[in-house]
Amino acid sequence: MKDTILYFVLPCYNEEAVLPETAKRLYAKCDRLIKAGKISPESRILFVNDGSKDSTWMLIEKLHSFRPIFAGLNLSRNRGHQNALLAGLMYAKDYCDIAVSMDADLQDDIDAVDEMISKYEGGCDIVYGVRNNRDTDSWFKRTTARGFYRLMTRMGVEMVSDSADYRLMSRRALLALSEFKEVNLFLRGMVPMIGMKTDKVFYKRGERFAGESKYPLRKMLAFSIEGITSLSVQPIRLITNTGIFVFLISLALLIWGIMQKVRGVTVSGWASLIVSIWAIGGLILLGIGVIGEYIGKIYLESKARPRFIIDTALNEARKKEEDPISVQDVINEIRKHSGDLQI
Ligand code: UDP
Ligand code: MG
Repeated sequence: MKDTILYFVLPCYNEEAVLPETAKRLYAKCDRLIKAGKISPESRILFVNDGSKDSTWMLIEKLHSFRPIFAGLNLSRNRGHQNALLAGLMYAKDYCDIAVSMDADLQDDIDAVDEMISKYEGGCDIVYGVRNNRDTDSWFKRTTARGFYRLMTRMGVEMVSDSADYRLMSRRALLALSEFKEVNLFLRGMVPMIGMKTDKVFYKRGERFAGESKYPLRKMLAFSIEGITSLSVQPIRLITNTGIFVFLISLALLIWGIMQKVRGVTVSGWASLIVSIWAIGGLILLGIGVIGEYIGKIYLESKARPRFIIDTALNEARKKEEDPISVQDVINEIRKHSGDLQI
């Protein structure tokens, strides 16, 4: 539809190596979509600079001065991929009809956007980009990713397998997302909670175009722990169940010990004793650790700190108007015409 305002939202952290190419390709894409009457010329390519240490923000400023279609948000400091993405989406929701989020490194095939838009036109509010294979990943990443999705499903977290943060969301879905006030963000677990009509678009994910991954193993692990503990309480339940199980074993051992005593068999028992002390000590520490993780989360949530702070916004577009008709106007209207409403 000609007047659909589309915002591409791209979080960027130290992406100077790839940004010019990304800008070129997205510009060409937008141009084609605008000419085909699929999206409005008011559409934007919104780069969110997540406290980069290189010249990323300078590049964004330059792009914005070339063409107003390039918009930029500069976060006050590095807040991580998820927070940067949320900052972009929450900013875009006041301007756009649909937002498409993607990484800045051109790994996601931008041609999948056409199909996403058609699905939106067909009535979908959320369209997930799902990669149809993991050929471009290392064996290690492939296996760990598969294990991660399986674990998440076990833990009762609903996720769309093999979809990252490449997705289309309508303004309605973005407004719903803005109602989620949590500070510990794991967007790909949160978005399916919105519900509404959804669909998937399959695409081939390529290699990073330039620069290096900002998700080394350490960050990937932290991200998956974040995903599990911010969306599921299963680990706590697991600890409780293990506790019950261990307690039952110790009961059985006690009965067995008494029976041995009655039979007159003396067991020297040092080894078993020391083993149980260590085992139980370990379990208790593990339990405290898991519970501590959740308490830490509660602590962070209770402070309700802002999830991002925007330093500068570069965008000439005007915010979408709120419905200018007030409730009082409608009441007055009904009152005026109450004669017509009589049946
Ligand atoms: N990113 C970010 N803040 C960070 C780390 C990453 O905004 O602290 C962005 C990064 O610029 C990229 C996206 O998140 O656009 C995904 O990162 P990357 O491509 O390095 O992850 P990978 O594809 O290797 O998992
Ligand atoms: Mg990448």
